[in-house]
Amino acid sequence: MNKIIIAIDGYSACGKSSTAKAVAAALGYSYIDSGAMYRAVTLYFIQHYVSLDNEREISRALNNIEIEFRIPPGRTDGISETYLNGLNVEEEIRSMFVSDMVSDVSKIPQVRRFLVAQQQKMGKKKGIVMDGRDIGTVVFPQAELKLFLTADINERARRRQAELLAKEQLVSLKEVIENLQKRDLIDTTRAESPLRKAEDAIEIDTTFVTFDEQVEIVLRKAYRKIMYAADEVSQ
Ligand code: C5P
Repeated sequence: MNKIIIAIDGYSACGKSSTAKAVAAALGYSYIDSGAMYRAVTLYFIQHYVSLDNEREISRALNNIEIEFRIPPGRTDGISETYLNGLNVEEEIRSMFVSDMVSDVSKIPQVRRFLVAQQQKMGKKKGIVMDGRDIGTVVFPQAELKLFLTADINERARRRQAELLAKEQLVSLKEVIENLQKRDLIDTTRAESPLRKAEDAIEIDTTFVTFDEQVEIVLRKAYRKIMYAADEVSQ
């Protein structure tokens, strides 16, 4: 069967990652969390005191960064986690101290060039679901299916707070809202590939939609695109 690329973009905490993960699993596609890559670079920059306005320091740091997605030993659900230079950083990159800095790191053009090149390589064989902010506009402008997720800020904050709580991080709703708003502002106003809906992306407001319904909507659209891609090839 023909494989397609599915690009899922949108604001922070709209359910992009969980939807993308479930859609990829149902289709037997690989799932790439591009936000995890920006978070891993941010973690490295924090750990190595990289100054965000020093281009040479940034270049040197990027040369020392290797990001991989691997299924850790003992994980049986087939879901991969983020590794930075051989170390599993999945939990650390989701902490508030990384969330607080990630959008400032993500607006650096060198960082974007470094990660976009790797993301495009990952999509060479198609059969991939990638979520982020610039996937439908910059990374895969040719993606067969593009989605743009939105949701009410209070609902997004509530979901993110619950996720953090599940990892034993107690963060107030006010703090989560402030972080989401700050990141949205930086992400939508940065000069280099700002977050915006691609012209041909389908917008889905997830505020009043259950997770299962979200996955169902995306899968239905994906199957249609896959069949359409198969028709085109056989003609
Ligand atoms: O998706 P997540 O919320 O984990 O992304 C963290 C941050 O990484 C975003 O707020 C954004 O600044 C940056 N990002 C980006 N481009 C992407 C994915 C994430 O700039 N494709």
